[in-house]
Amino acid sequence: MYYLGIDVGGMSIKGALVDKEGVIHYRANIKTEVEKTSEEILQDIKDLCLSLVSEGGIKINALRGIGIGIPGSIDAEEGVIVYSNNINFENVKIVEYLKKTFDCPIKIGNDANVAALGEMKYGSGKGSKNLILVTLGTGVGTGIIVESKILLGKYGAGGEGGHMTLVYNGLPCTCGKKGCWERYASATALIRITEEYSNKYPDSEVAKIIKKEGKISGKTAFIAARNGDKTGAKIVSKYVKYVAEGLISLVNIFRPDCILIGGGVSNEGSYLMKKIERRVSRYSYGGSRNYKVPVKKAELQNDAGILGAAALCIDN
Ligand SMILES: [Zn+2]
Repeated sequence: MYYLGIDVGGMSIKGALVDKEGVIHYRANIKTEVEKTSEEILQDIKDLCLSLVSEGGIKINALRGIGIGIPGSIDAEEGVIVYSNNINFENVKIVEYLKKTFDCPIKIGNDANVAALGEMKYGSGKGSKNLILVTLGTGVGTGIIVESKILLGKYGAGGEGGHMTLVYNGLPCTCGKKGCWERYASATALIRITEEYSNKYPDSEVAKIIKKEGKISGKTAFIAARNGDKTGAKIVSKYVKYVAEGLISLVNIFRPDCILIGGGVSNEGSYLMKKIERRVSRYSYGGSRNYKVPVKKAELQNDAGILGAAALCIDN
């Protein structure tokens, strides 16, 4: 039995032929041509599905399902992409379109939610029924799983943890509100904090690294902090507080089995995870008397999307 997992992103559309155990048998990627119309992008997705079947060496009737993860608001029940901000998708009936070519169940979901499902079934969340995947990238994406099910909300528009308010009347966000968590805890925010501190402390190791490399990245402060630089350590500590503060709210509401951190920043590994975990455990409701939520790196990273998408169709 085979399934297709498709992960639609702003840069590329990733696809894989997957079996029930989540083993990838064949994979292919295409570029997301954002200037195309929604009809043209749908056709690209259909062609990618067809090539995964033929190149993967299976008959089309051996296909048991196609799952697709898409950024934006997704009405999973109706199979409609309600809105996607970086691709030309608005009220697109993607399931109906693909049904003309494929005679198998086709399911869609929001990309962050789907990635959380992937981590629960095949990644660092294996064995957990309640988990939160937080992706620290350009923004902050959250996928919340409650009792093994994705928390969707009405028309799939729920679970947007990145836009909960961390600072009243704080920094403006792309969503139109001020003070969203993602304005403080994303990789973009980390770079902004790093820049502020390097300007304030021009003799610090952080400032020296930036000068030498000619750019600031999410790694800069961590490299300096690991080398014993005080400014680097201050930046890391400030960033950890912002990340943890949002997680504490999520823990107080959901008390998941575990929290998984994905995105480029998570490559800082246990150095970062332990700092976040300590703070979350200390300040979440009940402190050390309540269940201490482990904070782990999301291990599937780029494959979480395709595996989670396929998992939308795999029931066990
Ligand atoms: Zn926002």
